[in-house]
Amino acid sequence: MKLFDVYPLYDIEPVKALGSKLWDKEGTEYLDLYGGHAVISIGHTHPHYVKRLTDQLNALGFYSNAVQNSVQQELADKLGQISGCGEYQLFLCSTGAEANENALKLASFHTGRKKVIAMKQAFHGRTSGAVAATDNPKIVAPFNADHQVVFVPMNDIEALKAELDDQTAAVIIEGMQGVAGIYVPSNDYLQQVSALCKEAGALLIMDEVQSGAGRSGKFFAYQHSGIQPDVISLAKGIGNGFPVAMILIAPHIQPWHGMLGTTFGGNHLACAASLAVLEVIEQENLMANAAELGEWLIAELKSIPQIKEVRGMGLMLGLGFDFSVAELRKNLLFSHKIFTGSAGDKNTMRLLPSLAVTKEELNQFLEALKIELNK
Ligand code: PLP
Repeated sequence: MKLFDVYPLYDIEPVKALGSKLWDKEGTEYLDLYGGHAVISIGHTHPHYVKRLTDQLNALGFYSNAVQNSVQQELADKLGQISGCGEYQLFLCSTGAEANENALKLASFHTGRKKVIAMKQAFHGRTSGAVAATDNPKIVAPFNADHQVVFVPMNDIEALKAELDDQTAAVIIEGMQGVAGIYVPSNDYLQQVSALCKEAGALLIMDEVQSGAGRSGKFFAYQHSGIQPDVISLAKGIGNGFPVAMILIAPHIQPWHGMLGTTFGGNHLACAASLAVLEVIEQENLMANAAELGEWLIAELKSIPQIKEVRGMGLMLGLGFDFSVAELRKNLLFSHKIFTGSAGDKNTMRLLPSLAVTKEELNQFLEALKIELNK
């Protein structure tokens, strides 16, 4: 059987990894500053993570949500402690898109409304249709039956005010817009949106799928603004490679049996993966590392004249150039053995290293970048 050819691939096959390093079939070493779209948070094949998953697999890898699963509660407790969101409720699923689907569905069930306001250039996932093709009113929330989504420019509060009304179920905003090129909602904007949502009876959903799990230097990027969203979606880095996703749900939102559901969500192995991630974030102070190294790296990048703009927080950075970065990224990969990413327009380089990356590794990147830019 042939693979369905939807991904443009580099001719490199990593077969081994540790921390921020990858090795290909020939034994060539690479520095990974992209971590598979922000997935690698604590570093590749971290020994604690490998042990946690192996121990769980040897005990019980999967059983359905029809029985008690104390690993889910252990995860909820640890997540509450590390994220500072202990009063929220947790619903577990498997991908970022699924987390956002559930967040939107929840908002629709909770408010009985159909309208959603999203940000221009937003990316919340690639799913559509499964619920639309489901004929069961208990599962199909009003949003899915006949929904309306309007897009407004981020950080423009007047544009939001013009759309937010008593038909609005939710406003959804990324903690930092990742795929669009690392654009950050301002603290002031988030504070105003949060207040306006409360007034209108709409839920504020923060999509922290890419920006969460400590990447911004705080557990969630929105926490830099001090707001308290109604729903928070999280995926990618919280699994460090294991498909885990979740939504955190404010205490004022009441569940009922059958309201949300999924086959794989919260399985034993997935919970063990997330628990290991949280334990390593705590033991190795990785949020502080992301904050400190991020601040230092931003200052270093800003001193490079060819970089026109540095956007982002912590270890989620967009480097804006006034030319396409495709060739530059290729040269960093093939001449210097460094993986980077791109985002948004062709001119943005995206850096999403492990939160355990070292200054030495980032210096290796800075040196290589300067060599390429001064060629
Ligand atoms: N939301 C954001 C902010 C993302 O960056 C992504 C993926 O890049 C998603 C949702 C979708 O996540 P997944 O690919 O796990 O469905």
